[in-house]
Amino acid sequence: NLVFVAKETTGDETRVAASVETVKKMIGLGLDVVVEAGAGAKSKIPDAEFEAVGARIGSVGAAATADVVLKVRRPTDEEIGGYKSGAIVIAVMDPYGNDEAIAAMAKAGLSSFAMELMPRITRAQSMDVLSSQANLAGYQAVIEAAAVYDRAMPMMMTAAGTVPAAKVFVMGAGVAGLQAIATARRLGAAVSATDVRPAAKEQVASLGAKFIAVEDEEFKAAETAGGYAKEMSREYQAKQAALVADHIAKQDIVITTALIPGRPAPKLVSREMLKSMKPGAVAVDLAVERGGNIEGVKPGKVADVDGVRVIGYANMAGRIAASASALYAKNLLTFLETMVNKETKAVALNLEDELIKATMLTHAGEVVHPAFGGAKK
Ligand code: NAD
Repeated sequence: NLVFVAKETTGDETRVAASVETVKKMIGLGLDVVVEAGAGAKSKIPDAEFEAVGARIGSVGAAATADVVLKVRRPTDEEIGGYKSGAIVIAVMDPYGNDEAIAAMAKAGLSSFAMELMPRITRAQSMDVLSSQANLAGYQAVIEAAAVYDRAMPMMMTAAGTVPAAKVFVMGAGVAGLQAIATARRLGAAVSATDVRPAAKEQVASLGAKFIAVEDEEFKAAETAGGYAKEMSREYQAKQAALVADHIAKQDIVITTALIPGRPAPKLVSREMLKSMKPGAVAVDLAVERGGNIEGVKPGKVADVDGVRVIGYANMAGRIAASASALYAKNLLTFLETMVNKETKAVALNLEDELIKATMLTHAGEVVHPAFGGAKK
């Protein structure tokens, strides 16, 4: 079977869906691999390196004969038109609110898989793109903030005087937030963090940061069975805002990462709160692609909002493309491996597999995922 590794065409996507290591492994599984020319360039993987491990370099036209297409972003209508009916397409599909795009993949006869819907179970841990990318995004958020911040992060006691440690506040202590905490700590900042899930409290403390949250009855029940946050009540949000308002006024850097699956990002930082921050303060909004946690954040920009530099870069992981691609490619390979028959070396879908069920959006001309209008409820 032929696997096509596409060059990304959406926006300024820098990542690629395969690495030298994963191409080598795919070939080892008995698959043919064509990498679109230049696909790895922005991730610092020259075509020659893919060729050296046995891939062919092809044009976009090679996608027409591919049984499997590996991508970072959901294919555009034009790209879909270039794939054969029955092809498997694996990418981050951003399915919520994109019914038309999903329908187009169904109509084209594609078996499409949304990597972000991978269940967070032990078996699928190595396929978890949300974690692999969020972890890097959390790291990079601190690096971007430090670069804009006009002061040093660590406390420095020198003969010429003392520089105080930066005060960093991380809102949302999931995968990205915890890595942001760890990174800011390594740089020597004094770090505090908040979340609505009680499980976050211990994790924040174990990284040496101070946990700040409204710990009422609602907080105690805020984690879903899947480990995610629930959308909090208006009353809770008001209590949280009051607590945060006091705390944020003393911070130099705020990094927000709060998300609720399938919902817009919760608004956590108001313009009033930004106004209360110290001169030179910096904020980073990692939730910007889902509407943002910070009022006034400008997608893709560093905006001056009431005296605070608010960093709203989308695709933060893509700003460290080489690392992000390496991990993303590995996530994809591990998933693809489950579809390859070890004896025949052919790619075949086991529609009863829980990973397939959880991630498959379209198949055999139909939208099949129950969350997006598929038949099975
Ligand atoms: P996420 O990206 O959905 O959200 C980021 C964080 O924002 C979460 O910690 C969430 O609780 C928090 N949040 C939501 N609303 C908030 C609000 N109003 N105020 C403050 N914080 C708010 O979450 P994630 O990073 O994907 O992690 C979610 C959970 O899943 C974590 O417990 C994580 O450890 C767990 N997880 C498990 C596995 C696994 O078992 N394989 C893998 C990855 C993550």
